[in-house]
Amino acid sequence: MSLNVFCRYCGQQISDTDLVCGHCDSRQNFTEPSRDASRKNYEGVIAFVVCFFFGVFGIHRFIYGKIGTGILMLVTVGGFGIWWLIDLIRIAIGHFTDSRGNRLSLIHDH
Ligand SMILES: [Zn+2]
Repeated sequence: MSLNVFCRYCGQQISDTDLVCGHCDSRQNFTEPSRDASRKNYEGVIAFVVCFFFGVFGIHRFIYGKIGTGILMLVTVGGFGIWWLIDLIRIAIGHFTDSRGNRLSLIHDH
């Protein structure tokens, strides 16, 4: 089965099985569906587990370089549990980043 796609160079409609466009002879480099999409991000899993058990003390923030907010979290006992819950959810859905900007996610790598 083939689908009609558009040549990325001239914009003409071609088949997705065509390696070379029949209109402009440009080579088509179709990107493979990412197999990494469902791969577990183990660091994210560890972050989630640490956050789950020790998150109210801000331990996951200390580990990932967010010392300032980690202390704040420790003092407020995870923002009375609310901040802890938010962080837990953020790690689970991949919205938590460490101090270097690396995203930590329970499910996805990206
Ligand atoms: Zn073309």
